[in-house]
Amino acid sequence: MKHDSRLSATLHALLHMADHGKPMTSDHLALCLRTNPVVVRRTMAGLREAGFVTSERGHGGGWTLVRDLASVSLRDIHLALGEPVLLPLSPATENPGCLVEQAVNHALDDTFREAQALLLERFGQIRLSDLAADFSRRMATHNMQKEITMQHDAIIVGGSFAGLAGALVLARTRRRVLVIDAGMPRNRFAARSHGVLGHDGRAGGELLAEARAQFLAYPSASLVSGEAVAAETTEEGIAVRLADGTLHQGRRMLIATGVRDDLPAIPGLAERWGETVLHCPYCHAYEIGGGPIGVLATTALSHHQASLLADWGDTTYFADANFPLDEATAALLSARNVRIEDTPFTAVEGSAPGIDGVRLADGRLVPVKALFIGAPLRMASPLAQQIGCAFDETRLGVKIRTDGFKQTTVRNVFAAGDAATEMHNITLASADGVFAALAIHRSLIEEDAATSLNATAA
Ligand SMILES: Cc1cc2nc3c(=O)[nH]c(=O)nc-3n(C[C@H](O)[C@H](O)[C@H](O)COP(=O)(O)OP(=O)(O)OC[C@H]3O[C@@H](n4cnc5c(N)ncnc54)[C@H](O)[C@@H]3O)c2cc1C
Repeated sequence: MKHDSRLSATLHALLHMADHGKPMTSDHLALCLRTNPVVVRRTMAGLREAGFVTSERGHGGGWTLVRDLASVSLRDIHLALGEPVLLPLSPATENPGCLVEQAVNHALDDTFREAQALLLERFGQIRLSDLAADFSRRMATHNMQKEITMQHDAIIVGGSFAGLAGALVLARTRRRVLVIDAGMPRNRFAARSHGVLGHDGRAGGELLAEARAQFLAYPSASLVSGEAVAAETTEEGIAVRLADGTLHQGRRMLIATGVRDDLPAIPGLAERWGETVLHCPYCHAYEIGGGPIGVLATTALSHHQASLLADWGDTTYFADANFPLDEATAALLSARNVRIEDTPFTAVEGSAPGIDGVRLADGRLVPVKALFIGAPLRMASPLAQQIGCAFDETRLGVKIRTDGFKQTTVRNVFAAGDAATEMHNITLASADGVFAALAIHRSLIEEDAATSLNATAA
């Protein structure tokens, strides 16, 4: 018994076009309808003749829906298609040579007629816009479901220097890589980045935008903007949930979420952070151009900063009783021509982001062009802790514990960049991300090989 499938093909095409909302080529439609482009072209030619779509040739062309689907009923489509048979088992589709069909159809003749009439009446009441709205709702759920079940080889949380460097290497191994990034790199307060080979003085955001585009040019690469709020180990690897509720599955996870600088609550610091209040001499001291530089004793390591900075300007170390200097350290600072100011400091003053100087408790203002501080560090994201990673103490906070291959204490979870190292800068974070990617690739290969050996043995 031959069933006319044109009605079904037409409805599929129209609802996909309505959902897409933009012109669609025959090839694209064929992909959505899981059929041959030739079939699609035939269907669309019929729809064009009936005034439902128009077509445009050439690059960027395709089929465009031109009828308002609210004014079209299923009956209209049925008519436009020349009233094809609706019921697969009916006299109109009868195989003349088959006596069984003839006997069955003879017995059901009236019923077929009534069913067809009822169907057509109902067709007249069904608007295509209602079908399209229902279809779009189902598509959205379906897509979400697909996203949930899509298994990435690696999910990288944190799409900055460490994360993107690792992601690029993994995408180049043809593995499916998803980067999840909240868009808050640690150096976002600084207008320029320095000491990055081949990019000295470029804006950090510019470097990252370029890195992101280069990564996304690989077909197995994807990136979502958002915050990963939870992660758990699963049988297949790791499941990561975003703040918007979406869930992503990966065989491996790389945590490259960076650290946050906990600025001391000293008036005048926060509004100058990254401009005239800095932490890394190698990143920004050269640009100060010499002159008076200050170091505030905000951690037990601040004297070390002061001893370095003497290479870049006339350095004053503003001491704090909470971090007393022993005799040897004081002697070392003096050997480096660092002046030690013992009067407690109270504020940083001037028209921000500029600095006039450091205000002391006795009322004096000690002029400086720039100030360096060592800010205690904390994880920028609780994700590593939440999934159960162990941490190591560092001189300024903690870092995620990893082995020689950047693997954390949690199976299938790797970590790189500032969150997993003690020495921090763009180049070191990038290199760490690359190293983690190599280790992840190696672990995927080992797992794939073991799976295939087991399958052969079974
Ligand atoms: C003010 C300042 C200026 C600096 N200047 C320089 C410089 O000139 N040269 C230099 O070499 N270094 C510089 N650094 C150091 C440099 O910024 C860091 O070493 C580098 O950014 C570390 O890279 P990372 O990828 O490990 O972390 P980050 O760059 O901090 O990136 C972490 C990324 O992870 C994202 N993230 C965090 N949690 C989540 C989550 N739960 N879900 C999704 N995404 C998340 C963040 O939004 C961010 O995009 C500077 C640092 C500071 C503070």
